[in-house]
Formats: sequence, C-alpha cells, structure tokens
Amino acid sequence: MSEYAKNFVAQVKAKNPNEPEFHQAVEEVVESLSLVLDRYPEYRSAKILERIVEPERVIMFRVPWMDDQGEIHVNRGFRIEMNSAIGPYKGGLRFHPSVNLGILKFLAFEQVFKNSLTTLPMGGGKGGSDFDPKGKSDNEVMRFCQSFMDELYRHIGPDTDVPAGDIGVGGREIGFLFGQYRKLRNEFTGVLTGKGLNWGGSLIRPEATGYGAVYFASEMLKTRRESLEGKTCLVSGSGNVAQYTVEKINQLGGKVVTLSDSNGYIHDEEGIDKKKLDFVMELKNVKRGRIKEYVDKYPRAVYSPIDPKQDFNPLWNHKAHCAFPSATQNEINGKDAQNLLKNGIYVVAEGANMPTTLDGVKVFLDAKILYGPGKAANAGGVATSGLEMAQNSMRLPWTRDEVDNRLHLIMKDIHRTCVETAERFGTPGNYVNGANIGGFLKVADAMMDQGLV
Ligand code: NAP
Repeated sequence: MSEYAKNFVAQVKAKNPNEPEFHQAVEEVVESLSLVLDRYPEYRSAKILERIVEPERVIMFRVPWMDDQGEIHVNRGFRIEMNSAIGPYKGGLRFHPSVNLGILKFLAFEQVFKNSLTTLPMGGGKGGSDFDPKGKSDNEVMRFCQSFMDELYRHIGPDTDVPAGDIGVGGREIGFLFGQYRKLRNEFTGVLTGKGLNWGGSLIRPEATGYGAVYFASEMLKTRRESLEGKTCLVSGSGNVAQYTVEKINQLGGKVVTLSDSNGYIHDEEGIDKKKLDFVMELKNVKRGRIKEYVDKYPRAVYSPIDPKQDFNPLWNHKAHCAFPSATQNEINGKDAQNLLKNGIYVVAEGANMPTTLDGVKVFLDAKILYGPGKAANAGGVATSGLEMAQNSMRLPWTRDEVDNRLHLIMKDIHRTCVETAERFGTPGNYVNGANIGGFLKVADAMMDQGLV
C-alpha cells in the first residue's frame, strides 16, 4: 500500500473509532484505489476519497415497541445515506442483534461501489436495527416494523432513498414496512423494493442475489473454458441468498453439499437436490426452524455445530470445487481460506457482503484462484431492485424471463467491467481491484462533475 493510502487509512481509523468492519471495508478499497490515484491525481486534489468515506447523512433513532405480553422494548434504528452522486440512496435494511453504526457504515460504503457496478442509476445506503426477529411472533414483528417506519418515512422516498431487505428483513418485514409508509404518506410509490408481486414487486427479486452470484461464478469459470456442470459446491447460510444460490447451481448441473445457520452446518455428500431444497425453504421461510432439523428428515446428512470461538469454520474444510459464502461478514478467515485451497476450491463467489477477512482475501489473491468479491458477485440483488424501481416508475410489470434475462446480462456486464478494469490497471485476473476501481470511477467522475457538495 502507498504511503498516502496508509496515512489515509490511519486517519479513517482515528476518526471512526470502534468501527472495525468499516475500517476493513475502507482498507480493502483504498488498497485498490492507490492504483487509480497514482494515475489520476485530480481525484486526489478534489479529495474524492476523503469525501467518499464520509456519509452524506446518518440518521439514528429510537424504535419503541410492545411485545405480546404488553412489555415495552426499545431498539435503535439507523439509516446511512452514504452517497447519492449517481442516483437515489439504495440499499437494504438489516434486523439483527449485531447491528451497529460501524457494521451499517461498512455495508453502505460497499453498496456505493456495488450499485455503481450494476450500470443502473443508484446511489448507496444501508440501514437497519439491532432488533432480533428470531423467536418473535408475526404481530410483534409487525409492531416493530410499524414503529421503525414511524420515523424512517420522513427520510426516504422513491427519488430520495429506496430501502430493501437484508439479513432478517424478507418479504414479511417489507410488507409491514410498506404498509406503514403508505398509510403515513398517503401515497402508493416504489419506496421499498422486494415488495410482494400483487403490490408492486418484481418477479425474480427474491431469487436475484443467489442467481446473480451463480451467474457471476459461471462467467469466471468461462474465462478458463469451464462451467458449473459437475462441480461440487460449498454454500454457507440458509436464508434468501443461500437458498437461491443452491437452486441455480442445481439448475446448471452442479452439486451443493453444505448449508448452515448461526448455530451449525449440515454436510450432505449426496447433494441438496430440488426436493431437499424445497424442504429447507419450508423449514426456514415458513416454519422458521433451524438447519439442524435437516438431518431429522435426511439422516444420511451430518449436522455439526459451529463454535464461534474456534479459529476456523469446519464448513470450509470439505472437498469441493467452488465456495459460495452466503451468510454474513467475516465468515472466512485466513485459516479458512487456506483450508479451502487445500480442499481443491478454486472458485469463490461471495453472495454475502465482505464474508472474507483481509487475510483471507490475500490468500485467494496470492493463489490466483477465481475470486469474485461480494461487491461484484452479489450485485444481482440490488440490480434487480433497480429493475423493480424501473417497473414501478413505468407502472408496468415485466415477465419472469424478461427480468431474469436482464439480470443475467447485468451480471455479465459486471464481470466484463471487473476483468477489463483489472487489466487496465495492470493486475489481470484480480477481481477485487476490478470491482473496486470499476465501481469507483463512475461515482468519482459524477462527484467531480457536480462540484463540491
Ligand atoms: P437471511 O435471509 O436473513 O439469511 C441469513 C443467513 O445467514 C441465515 O442462515 C443466518 O442464520 C445466517 N447468519 C446470519 N448472521 C450470522 C452470523 N453472525 N453467523 C453465522 N450465520 C449467520 O439474509 P440474506 O438476505 O440471505 O443475507 C445473507 C448475506 O447476503 C448477508 O451478508 C447480506 O448482507 C448479503 N446480501 C443479501 C442480499 C439480498 O438481496 N438479500 C443482497 C446482497 C447481499 P440464522 O438464521 O442462525 O441467523
């Protein structure tokens, strides 16, 4: 890393203490951007980097709600409006007890680059709450969502800021949030994406992140004249992204042998076929059960708990060709990355955001495997949110095939941008540089054009 980049990262750390995930995201991007700033000093004198790490606006608010027993709870709500140089703020809402300012700032920062890569006019934002939907009744979740929107509604809108789902926020939560927004504003607009099909949603939006990550992996494999046909794949998580990653891998002839949740993982040597995936979808989306229950139904599979204190994750220690981390940030550390290589993995497509630590990223880059970072590989979700916004503006829904074809084309475009940009900046095959620089240039140029705002 250049002296300038090192000093810059040190300043970000000093100015934003206690936000390790944000530091990590900035460090990775700044390392790539050193290559750009050396070649184009005008970005440095315009202080684009200094501006791009500072959110345009941070909103933090109280979310009081009452549980089914009449007890009052108080959670904290956030919305980080990071950058709107190329379009309205766009990015998901996360409901998880681990949510804090630093985690949401890392996610909003990544989102700026990701949204730029999609080719669609979307700025970057992210939000959420430390509320835990796990174990809550539908009515409790509804009351929480309504209280959350009681404050958020005044900060968002279809041309200002368009939230969507993320961890803990799926179709059910988007429904409650949308209902409350509509009531408070007395207007029916495309203010959230991931909506139900009968009320402004888009076909393929639920599938988009997982499908997109698999399309991206296929594009990477094509550069070596290979495909997913016959490949064994490790997938982590068992939520939205993981489920549709499995579906698409199966459709393309691959075999998935793992799934997980925050307690443990299952290994099914025979593969998680369509029937088994249907079971997982029912278990997770309807019964809201745990992945452990998979082995009650399919006893030839093996369940193992994951101990967060252990210095490696056993899920990443199985023989396979491809890995699709689809649970959460920092789920692959340096040791896990070494284990993956040792087990023959040479394709990693990140469905989750920043699932690999900086050490792990270095292991993948040094080994020159096909490593697709989340900013690029999981951009299909937000891209399809962009397509939902377009359909809402036209008041015209597209067919499933039309949306899927557009998603596929966008993932091919993102892949091409990464490959061409990495080459242009002297690091062929480095998708991290390709994604970071490719996403940066469009936003930086828009900021230069629009003056000091
Ligand atoms: P989800 O439906 O809520 O599923 C999350 C999955 O990850 C669950 O299986 C969950 O297990 C597991 N998980 C969550 N926190 C964990 C932790 N700390 N340790 C281990 N496992 C954990 O969420 P999702 O939408 O699939 O999101 C998964 C990842 O994809 C996130 O990184 C998200 O930011 C990223 N992403 C999502 C989208 C999208 O469109 N949804 C788009 C781009 C990127 P438990 O049930 O035990 O919590």
